Amino acid sequence: MKHVFGPVPSRRLGLSLGIDLLTPKICTMDCIYCELGPTTDRRIERGRFVDLDEVLDELKTRLADDPDVDFITFSGSGEPTLSLDLGPAIDGIRAVTDARIAVLTNGSLMTDPDVRKALMRADIVIPSVDAVSMQAFQRINRPHPGLDPEAIIEATAAFTAEFDGKVWLETVIVKGMNDDLQEVARLARAVDLISPARIQVNTVVRPPAVAGTEAVGDGRLHEIADTLGPHAGVIAPPSVQSHPFAGDSAEVIIDMAARRPVTVGDIASALGISPGEGAKIVGSLLDSRRLEVVRHGDLLYYVPIARKGEGS
Ligand code: SF4
Repeated sequence: MKHVFGPVPSRRLGLSLGIDLLTPKICTMDCIYCELGPTTDRRIERGRFVDLDEVLDELKTRLADDPDVDFITFSGSGEPTLSLDLGPAIDGIRAVTDARIAVLTNGSLMTDPDVRKALMRADIVIPSVDAVSMQAFQRINRPHPGLDPEAIIEATAAFTAEFDGKVWLETVIVKGMNDDLQEVARLARAVDLISPARIQVNTVVRPPAVAGTEAVGDGRLHEIADTLGPHAGVIAPPSVQSHPFAGDSAEVIIDMAARRPVTVGDIASALGISPGEGAKIVGSLLDSRRLEVVRHGDLLYYVPIARKGEGS
């Protein structure tokens, strides 16, 4: 499977199959907290990066193994709205499953009417806004020079007003980067303008692209969520109840870890197995040198051996 991954234990969407319309790592930004490592192709021109028929064939195969997913989610190796195939892919997915469709986006291309039109076909759009001032935007998101945070926020507000589905805004708070009073007040004004159904406040959870990128404490995270209004909340850890996954667990774990560093808990939730069973499979993947361990905060994460040296 090159383009379909998971099931992924999403903190927001339950059990979700991921779709990747990109190749690593194409994005409009190069966020310091990115769990995919550094951006290798930072661009704002949209393009076609994979064969859409191949993507839809992979999805059909994976759905045959695991038909009870809650969501099909566009995410993966960068910014999904960079793909000109996004709209046609959503239509293709609707033809083969009743699962709901979500798009995780950094929102940077909301200023493009064609991108907004493609996103209109989804059920849930989860754009992120981490910064409003250009200084904070550059510090935390390291964007393509063609991007303007205020224009993005206005376009996201226009999209939300028109969209029949739900917009859940996400903001990632990084210690010393966007957690000061002024930037949080600007974020609160942006939230007011966009008026999303939910605001999900997050911090640096997994090993980041840039070493030294730090999470803010739980107390401050909750204070910031309060400032962002009644629809804001701190994202809770995953609590996915799933049935045991029927396919090749080792391959799915490698696949998940290639997308983002995973804990044994993530693996257990995704595959519907006990943490002990998850640890046993991880142990054999460590022994066969397909995975290695990375410590971040108090937790151990697993990444494929090949990923070593890409990030921090
Ligand atoms: S966090 Fe998202 S927007 Fe930021 S660099 Fe990674 S993929 Fe791109």
